[in-house]
Amino acid sequence: MKIIGARVLVVGMAKSGIAVAHLLQSQGAEVIACDEKPASQLPELPVPLVPQTPEAFRAKDLIVISPGVPADLPVLEDVRRRGIPVFGDVEVASWFLKGRILGITGSNGKTTTTALTGHLLRECAVPCQVGGNIGMPLASLVESSRDEHWNVLELSSFQLETIGTFHAQIGVALNVTPDHLDRHGTLERYWAAKARLFENQKPEDFAVLNAEDPATARFAGVTPAQVHWFSAGGQVPRGVWVAGDRLVADGEFIMPVSEVRLRGRHNLENVAAAAAAARLAGASLEGIRRGVATFPGVEHRIEFVRNLNGVEYYNDSKATNVDATLKAIDSFPGGIWIILGGKDKNSDYTVLRNPLKERARAALLIGAAASKIADQLGGVVPLEQCGTLAAAVTFAHSHARPGDTVLLAPACASFDQFDNYEHRGRVFKQLVADLKENSQ
Ligand code: ADP
Repeated sequence: MKIIGARVLVVGMAKSGIAVAHLLQSQGAEVIACDEKPASQLPELPVPLVPQTPEAFRAKDLIVISPGVPADLPVLEDVRRRGIPVFGDVEVASWFLKGRILGITGSNGKTTTTALTGHLLRECAVPCQVGGNIGMPLASLVESSRDEHWNVLELSSFQLETIGTFHAQIGVALNVTPDHLDRHGTLERYWAAKARLFENQKPEDFAVLNAEDPATARFAGVTPAQVHWFSAGGQVPRGVWVAGDRLVADGEFIMPVSEVRLRGRHNLENVAAAAAAARLAGASLEGIRRGVATFPGVEHRIEFVRNLNGVEYYNDSKATNVDATLKAIDSFPGGIWIILGGKDKNSDYTVLRNPLKERARAALLIGAAASKIADQLGGVVPLEQCGTLAAAVTFAHSHARPGDTVLLAPACASFDQFDNYEHRGRVFKQLVADLKENSQ
């Protein structure tokens, strides 16, 4: 569509909304913004702010919504009925972006795999920039994009749900497990949002899919692209897999698994996915080996914090859903003091029972979801109602024995007691740093 002079409303003025408003304005559009919050609670904006009323949506040529704004707001239905296009920030930014796109989606592992893929490409001197749902919003990457670049993008279901023509030359899907059902309604609709990454692909493109996850493997049926697979559990027809202690690409040895610094089997899936994608984007196997061996992981994802009196402390504050917590538990052999709780996302915690019974010494419960979690765990493991993170850390410190692990992997959102998961993770790390050696 013609952007010069177009009347555009951008809904939602967080990082992505501000970036896309700025981009559209610099491209010659007449941009205004709205947000549920008043101007006093928003950062300085590059465009005028109007109240979020039906009036704001009138006489517009384009409505752009931020990932945080539900795509099915009643006012948007009305706009669509009148034939006005409604798109998300990723779609709009892609109209101006130069270079090819390597897009990564999934319920868990997106940030880790995106950061790792960027690291592998840089290690192999393949020109790239990294962003999307991680770091810089796509609209902020437009200016620095170049025809010869790969744009390595983390893409959430909310961003994919609102694309139109956005098209990835390489699309990666890690897994689809229940998350965000409060927004998407059903697992099928959540799946369909992620499937959009593959629908616009062309026969010369590539889809990189998890052979071990049936929901993800189903994307092979919606993409016209060539399918490559990855698996942490043995050989696949074409792609990258883990066989015993070897990481292999189409039968060629890449590296021993013992060189991977990230913990847990789920991270081997992320490594295999990143290796498969990077290879398709031009990385060499030696470069992939070097890159994987030097990648330290991303903050707040099973991040080692400290060894104190023989007890190891790990921060997995990003485990904001039950599946991520299951993966975290699975990454340690036993002796776990796990800190669980926060803001419930309508989750089913009963699936934690068996893993906790096998590997945990106790579950230390915090936040608003504590009593629901206690009910659903049904006494399979000793429970301690700690209320706050500080109390949980103190309790763990005074009870854990050498060889044990204290793990923050809460299976809940953080918003009941913290600004976000990063804040929760930082508070945890500070509490752990403040613990005194040998004091019991
Ligand atoms: P996302 O960006 O999709 O939220 P992250 O890399 O930030 O993914 O990881 C989110 C959480 O999920 C962390 O707790 C992490 O340890 C866990 N995780 C990472 N990779 C996977 C995976 N492949 N499958 C399941 N859980 C994972």
